[in-house]
Amino acid sequence: MIPFSPPHIDEKIIEEVVAALKSGWITTGPRTKAFEQKLVGYCGVPRVLCVSSASAGLELMLRWFGIGPGDEVIVPAYTYTATAEVVLHCGAKPVMVDVGENFLITTDNIRKAITPSTKVIIPVDIAGLPCDYDDINRLVNEPSMRQQFRPANEVQRQLGRILVMSDAAHSLGGWYKGRRTGALTDITVFSFHAVKNLTTAEGGAICLNLPEPFDAEALYRELCTFSLHGQSKDALAKTKPGNWRYDVTYAGYKCNMTDMAAAIGLIEIDRYDSLILQRRRQIFEAYTQAFKDDDRFQIPEFETLDKTSSFHVYALRLRHADEARRDAVIQRIFDQEVSVNVHFIPLPMLTCYKKLGYDIRNYPVTYDNYSREISLPVYYDLTDEQVELVIEAVKKATEK
Ligand SMILES: *Cc1c(COP(=O)(O)O)cnc(C)c1O
Repeated sequence: MIPFSPPHIDEKIIEEVVAALKSGWITTGPRTKAFEQKLVGYCGVPRVLCVSSASAGLELMLRWFGIGPGDEVIVPAYTYTATAEVVLHCGAKPVMVDVGENFLITTDNIRKAITPSTKVIIPVDIAGLPCDYDDINRLVNEPSMRQQFRPANEVQRQLGRILVMSDAAHSLGGWYKGRRTGALTDITVFSFHAVKNLTTAEGGAICLNLPEPFDAEALYRELCTFSLHGQSKDALAKTKPGNWRYDVTYAGYKCNMTDMAAAIGLIEIDRYDSLILQRRRQIFEAYTQAFKDDDRFQIPEFETLDKTSSFHVYALRLRHADEARRDAVIQRIFDQEVSVNVHFIPLPMLTCYKKLGYDIRNYPVTYDNYSREISLPVYYDLTDEQVELVIEAVKKATEK
């Protein structure tokens, strides 16, 4: 069986994790701080805070912005549940909008969904392709949009407009107009979950890129405390001789990254471009070569004039299929010992969101994308021979 997305774990990673284990310091410490600095350099942003997951990072930042009951947060209907569930956790309302044919949230649909209660937009770089951030950033800065924004606390007053926080769980290393993801919006959150391009087993990172008067360094320090119980000193600082006394100034959260996770990340980030992204690109190109001139298939967009994907998900679509036929094709692919997937089941089709009143009929493009989509395996250790097997299996499964 060709698996869908196993992690790439080699001796270098194992050695670094063992070194962390033997160092006497396994939770947040020097390796986490070093990994944060690597991400600062990689993304070209002022500051990065590593956390235990992207979900935790998204929720932490919504809470930092003071999101609560009565607030609206715009999210695409086509995403993973984490994007919207964090809004529910805060007691706010996820306002779902339809996406475009390329799976990404559209600026027009965002515009139609904005109300005076809109506080945050969470665009999602589905499959690794960055959203249209110039348009989205321009939209929230339009004078009429700024005028109708109703700040409810000091942080919201300082920003003076809707916050743009991208869910970049898929798009580490993607490009938009010469800049990397992370540097494209006020806040960007990456995921290092086991199936993502760069993994730390579980983990996430928050890129801080807010405009003035926000100070990235001060905000970083504030968020270190916020993500660690609201405690004035972290565990490492407390180990300094005589430095035992601490205070807790408010009820914070607990979502820091461990040094064992950061050990994996430290090895991965150094070879992410040269090894991981390059191999993923080769696989994307091989699939595209195989499917592009075949009328049965619609290939995904992964490079445009303005954008380069991080090659996270190869979202192939069947041209002449409905959901039932797509499902049957998937079964026939599995029957040939090849694992595929669907990214994603739209949120309005999941019980949690149906119960809240969301209805997939209001998101026709989302449904159409989903109903014809099949995600093909893409990962560093997938060999050229296996790529050929996947292509053959897909072609055979779609024969009449
Ligand atoms: C994986 C994923 C997340 C959640 O990441 P975690 O690190 O597992 O919390 C959020 N959004 C999208 C689009 C994802 O695919």
